[in-house]
Amino acid sequence: AAVVKRKMKMDRRWAKAMEIVKEMQEKCGTPIGKLKQVADAMVVEMHAGLASEGGSKLKMLISYVDNLPTGYIFFDFSFRHMRSNWTRIVFAYAYVMKLICSLIDEKGLFYALDLGGTNFRVLRVQLGGKDGGLVNQEFTEVSIPPNLMIGTSDALFDYIAAELAKFISQEGQEFELPPGKQRELGFTFSFPVMQTSIASGTLVRWTKGFSIDDAVGLDVVAELTKAMKRQGLDMRVSALVNDTVGTLAGGKYSYKDVAVAVILGTGSNAAYVESAQAIPKWHGDLPKSGEMVINMEWGNFRSSHLPLTEYDHAMDNESLNPGEQIFEKLISGMYLGEIVRRVLLKMAEEAAFFGDIVPPKLKTPFILRTPDMSAMHHDTSSDLILVEKKMKDILEETYFVLYIEKGPRYPICNTSLQTRKVVVELCNIVATRGSRLAAAGILGILKKIGRDTVKDGDEQKTVIAMDGGLFEHYGEYSKCLENTVTELLGEEVSKTISIEHASDGSGLGAALLAASHSPYLEAENC
Ligand code: BGC
Ligand code: MG
Repeated sequence: AAVVKRKMKMDRRWAKAMEIVKEMQEKCGTPIGKLKQVADAMVVEMHAGLASEGGSKLKMLISYVDNLPTGYIFFDFSFRHMRSNWTRIVFAYAYVMKLICSLIDEKGLFYALDLGGTNFRVLRVQLGGKDGGLVNQEFTEVSIPPNLMIGTSDALFDYIAAELAKFISQEGQEFELPPGKQRELGFTFSFPVMQTSIASGTLVRWTKGFSIDDAVGLDVVAELTKAMKRQGLDMRVSALVNDTVGTLAGGKYSYKDVAVAVILGTGSNAAYVESAQAIPKWHGDLPKSGEMVINMEWGNFRSSHLPLTEYDHAMDNESLNPGEQIFEKLISGMYLGEIVRRVLLKMAEEAAFFGDIVPPKLKTPFILRTPDMSAMHHDTSSDLILVEKKMKDILEETYFVLYIEKGPRYPICNTSLQTRKVVVELCNIVATRGSRLAAAGILGILKKIGRDTVKDGDEQKTVIAMDGGLFEHYGEYSKCLENTVTELLGEEVSKTISIEHASDGSGLGAALLAASHSPYLEAENC
């Protein structure tokens, strides 16, 4: 009788757990119709954000980048396809001039700082040189001490400047500059910034776990410049760019049809090339190119069409930035694992999913990281060994608590294969929702710039430059994203769109933009 009773109890628990999963599955549904509504809502907000400052949750920030550097390399492949000899000659001449210009050594030397997620990079980029193109790129990467992410502005910038100073002090003599010449820097700062020029801008707010109140409203270039002075560094910031804008510029270096850049990493965002005339809030001169790169800050997008669950609301409420970055909280790497954790916790609490006690560790926010979630999701072993291992990391304390409470003879609640399969299913639900919504965002941009249809005789290609750890390392996520983009656009249009991984393009892009905005280069008219 006891055995039967126990079996009935287990069945009841399992049924309850399945109910929770099923509800999550339903609430996270992203049928095509819904994704199209999300894309349309995105387009509406894009228009509103471009119309006036504060017109939308989408900030649609003006980047002051109105001309994407095509790179010296561009000439390399472009003249092979040229029709007439005259065009060839003209371009070959331009190419040679460009080479001559770039051969004067230090012209090709630029630095970049890339601050955005959990890591921070310093890069040295050499452009030009004998073969044209990118000659050399060296970098160091350090992680940001968590206490600096919630400390003071000075502490953060001092840390960055010190790392930069260290990097420069270690470089060889060949990088020494002639007296009177400053080193030039592109600063990739991946937070919402209201730019006042290509090399200045004030921080609108922090995202992604950063929260340094005294920095909000300050010009981040001025802060960095002061910190560099304190380190005795004589450097000049020639370009301040968001990582999406840097990725767009970096992507353009290798793919000339780049029109959109998307970051899917700790946070998420997109930038694209907009027609300057379509930006009513821009009161400056019309750029020569007629174009302007817009940093959408799509992470802050929000719409009643977004499939939000009780777990999302709770996570948002308890976050450092409640009510903000709702789209980002659905699709980006900082949050996916945390959403899964929250569902598992509820299953533990209400359905005793991991046995009689609720695993204490499972109550810790962000203990289940998205890389762990990804590893579990990709587990192809027949008995899900990886899931077992990852879950064990979280459940371990539970065994200990049980041992103390009930003694060694109490049956340890190891995860069964059935349990592990459910964990994988949850990962799939959350990742699928995120990647499909990101695809809807991409459709919104393509619609806004008229690249969601093919016009007769038009051979326009569109490249979307993608970067970020989530896109790069979470295969199921990126696969689903690409499939969904195809599903949304249809076969024919999809052929004109390609998604390319612009690996670490944001740092390179910042250096390229620093180069193209360098006062030395401008003065010498290259
Ligand atoms: C920031 C964006 C950034 C994105 C990707 C978001 O949290 O607001 O500025 O581009 O993360 O790094
Ligand atoms: Mg990055």
